[in-house]
Amino acid sequence: MSKNIDVSVNTFEAQQQGRPTGPLVAGYEVIIGFETHAQLSTQSKIFSRASTAFGAEPNTQACAVDLALPGTLPVMNKGAVERAIQFGLAIGAHIAPRSVFARKNYFYPDLPKGYQISQFEIPVVQGGAVEFFLGEEKKSVRLVRAHLEEDAGKSLHEDFIGQSGIDLNRAGTPLLEIVTEPDMRSSVEAVAYAKELHKIVTWIGICDGNMQEGSFRCDANVSVRKPGQPLGTRREIKNLNSFKFMQQAIDYEIRWQIEHIEDGIAIQQATVLFNPDTGETRAMRTKEDAADYRYFPDPDLPPLVISAQWVQDVRGQMAELPRVMAERFVRDYGLSEYDATLLTQSQALARYFEAAAEASGQAKLASNWIMGEVSRRLNAQDLNLNAVPVSAVQLGALIGRIADKTVSNNAAKQVFDALWSGEDSDVDTLIESKGLKQMNDTGALEAIIDEVIAANAKNATEFKAGNEKALNALVGQIMKASKGKANPQQVNDLLRSRLA
Ligand code: ADP
Ligand code: MG
Repeated sequence: MSKNIDVSVNTFEAQQQGRPTGPLVAGYEVIIGFETHAQLSTQSKIFSRASTAFGAEPNTQACAVDLALPGTLPVMNKGAVERAIQFGLAIGAHIAPRSVFARKNYFYPDLPKGYQISQFEIPVVQGGAVEFFLGEEKKSVRLVRAHLEEDAGKSLHEDFIGQSGIDLNRAGTPLLEIVTEPDMRSSVEAVAYAKELHKIVTWIGICDGNMQEGSFRCDANVSVRKPGQPLGTRREIKNLNSFKFMQQAIDYEIRWQIEHIEDGIAIQQATVLFNPDTGETRAMRTKEDAADYRYFPDPDLPPLVISAQWVQDVRGQMAELPRVMAERFVRDYGLSEYDATLLTQSQALARYFEAAAEASGQAKLASNWIMGEVSRRLNAQDLNLNAVPVSAVQLGALIGRIADKTVSNNAAKQVFDALWSGEDSDVDTLIESKGLKQMNDTGALEAIIDEVIAANAKNATEFKAGNEKALNALVGQIMKASKGKANPQQVNDLLRSRLA
């Protein structure tokens, strides 16, 4: 890198016309559009009955259709179409009543037919938008389309010397390719979009979202321009399969493009790959145009017809969407928008919260505990919510005991620790056996207070003379005498009225 262009130092310059623009990098506006391949979670392939399970022995899950043997014909998988409809509904898109499969022709060893079945002119899902928060700011990235297509096989280079292996297990796996308008203006916004999209597809259950296994792969189209200029030439970074690499790759690409333009070198449209080891992107091939693929409607497949009734039925079966659920949490539980957004990161988390809130009747406390103690431990131990050792009902019971003042917050943490480390007992028994019950009996507490005042007459006199700190000393003594079981707030109140 010749010049040092810092992508993190952004001068924000709002452009008045059109959609809001993002921060400028070294005087350039960054433009990003995404194409994402989400592998649909069907048991069998998009046009055949072969299994889509991941990790099988090479070429054990490719049937005659996937191998493109002569005389075979594709048969549409209804489950794949249903998932496309679900996606369209989740993002507020138009579901085309009639869409068309097309052949995308190219030659590659892992594509036995010599063409990929995709959708071109008329995709099944049209328009829609993905909405998310970037800090405080609400963003909306418009989608152009989402279309159904089949995946290709895989070429394996690593295990062979002087030759390549071909595994056709993945050939024919159903994909939904989701294409955005070039609406994103920074790598941070792009990653936030990708995370939101990932949340949507996993939430509605159409994709398992496993990025390592390639179930959710993003291609980032990146260009830069001086504000007010027409769109610059883009380069497409292929197959980003981690959010961390996504950000690194885009940031590198932005710097690379700006440096070349500054050096007077025009950007060539190209497809590039990101190398996580070097942190650099490298051109793979100059970009083909649509014309190179000689698209034409696939004569083996009739148009895909989706009735209004079918869409209606799918809508009726869909779970509440994360954004709708977050709005409900704000409305019904009085949570902040921020808390509600965090609690709707996954269905598992949202369910856990609702169960704890119901069990305790204390939504705000439940939210605090889940985002505090529970999340902290899950992260520290790299655990998934499915493996959480404290059930939502147990947490709810414990929160109930804080709310009714049976235990202090600190004592509750001890109970929580015990539950977390697997102590096989219910909340009330644990509070009892660990002697953590808060002392709420005013008479007993007053007796202790009187004793402590008598033994620390000097502090009492000083407090009466206006020294607030002297009160703290007395509270400390009383807490000690109660073996930590007194309620500090109650001690404070009683003490003040005693010394008034
Ligand atoms: P193709 O089908 O050849 O890949 P598209 O026109 O469908 O091309 O665009 C693919 C993606 O690139 C879309 O997400 C789109 O928003 C994005 N894109 C198009 N032009 C630009 C540009 N100048 N800069 C950044 N992204 C762009
Ligand atoms: Mg494309």
